[in-house]
Amino acid sequence: MKRMKVGVIGATGMVGQNYVRLLKNHPWFEVKYVAASPRSAGKKYEEAVAGRWLMEEPMPEAVRDLIVGDANKVDEAKKKCDLIFSAIELDKEAVRKLEEDYAKAGFPVVSNNSAHRGTPDVPMLIPEVNPGHIEVIDSQREKRGWKKGLICVKPNCSIQSYVTPLFALIAAGYKIEAVIVTTMQAVSGAGYPGPASLSMIDNVIPYIKGEEEKSEIEPLKVLGKLINGKILSDKSIKIAAHCNRVAVIDGHMACVSVKFKGRKPSVEETKKIWKSFTGEPQKLDLPTAPKEAIIYREEPDRPQTRMDRDAWGAMGITVGRLRECPVFDLRFVGLSHNTVRGAAGGAILSAELLRAKGYF
Ligand code: NAP
Repeated sequence: MKRMKVGVIGATGMVGQNYVRLLKNHPWFEVKYVAASPRSAGKKYEEAVAGRWLMEEPMPEAVRDLIVGDANKVDEAKKKCDLIFSAIELDKEAVRKLEEDYAKAGFPVVSNNSAHRGTPDVPMLIPEVNPGHIEVIDSQREKRGWKKGLICVKPNCSIQSYVTPLFALIAAGYKIEAVIVTTMQAVSGAGYPGPASLSMIDNVIPYIKGEEEKSEIEPLKVLGKLINGKILSDKSIKIAAHCNRVAVIDGHMACVSVKFKGRKPSVEETKKIWKSFTGEPQKLDLPTAPKEAIIYREEPDRPQTRMDRDAWGAMGITVGRLRECPVFDLRFVGLSHNTVRGAAGGAILSAELLRAKGYF
């Protein structure tokens, strides 16, 4: 299959660099265009990120000499690529408009930015959980008059570690009434340079602006239903989130207590459900799909951030410590890599699903 030409806007940032790295040998997509702020525009990519290439592996040769475009100028992407991955950081109104302008110009846009997460005709995908939501794109295109363009977004970087295991239980017929989740989120989640080292070392900060709201609201849309051209959130589930910034580089961990409505699964049955759970990316054998949709670790002290964040190329969702909860019904710990599964890798998996389903 001929590789599709893709552009990364926000290519110089933390998530953008991960796109560049992860797409290096991708069988379906090839980075042909990079763009960022006017500060970086006009420079070679290598120069634009000089001194701030944060990936452990060297910069791919194929992108070093690409001239960075101005992400605000849609015309600069034309003729250079056919799909846009968006990892720009700007005020939300500006991002909403800019992503719509790219879609209007015929580009499918797969975004990490939160600007369009609440838009009812924009799917917010965890491909193992709500692959059917991509059908809302048919209404999105019809309503907005877009023929080839579309917008699809990824949810917040921490939620797949608990929404995927919760969804597996819902898919097995259980009803969830309430969830309390406490996250321990890596500093890379704040982008580069992130919080000052003197704020982070020897410390935990019990506040991440806007994060608790996202962690409580976004799962409801992901678990929602597509009705009459809109995704309607499942408001029957109550979620309370406590989000903490901790001194790890990558990997968001979540400690979760769950209360069921009516019948509740036992610990043994829950493990069985998680171990056998499989999603559309696994069924379609998408290039970036982890082989297991949920990895269950039996050791009493796993998952651990450093040990488990890179499972299945950092696309794995690792769960463990499942036990009864004396206040709710069950409790467990979930973990996923925030800049890969929670950002660039998750968006690449969404793009693979969109392509496999014929949306471009
Ligand atoms: P980042 O490291 O701060 O990178 C921001 C990017 O946006 C850079 O490429 C920057 O270009 C570009 N940019 C800044 N101002 C711009 C402007 N005026 N016009 C056009 N481009 C501009 O941020 P990040 O962590 O990669 O996050 C990118 C997006 O992904 C954010 O919306 C974030 O919320 C979301 N996200 C992040 C994570 C994570 O774990 N980090 C996870 C999920 C989602 P210059 O280099 O030229 O300034």
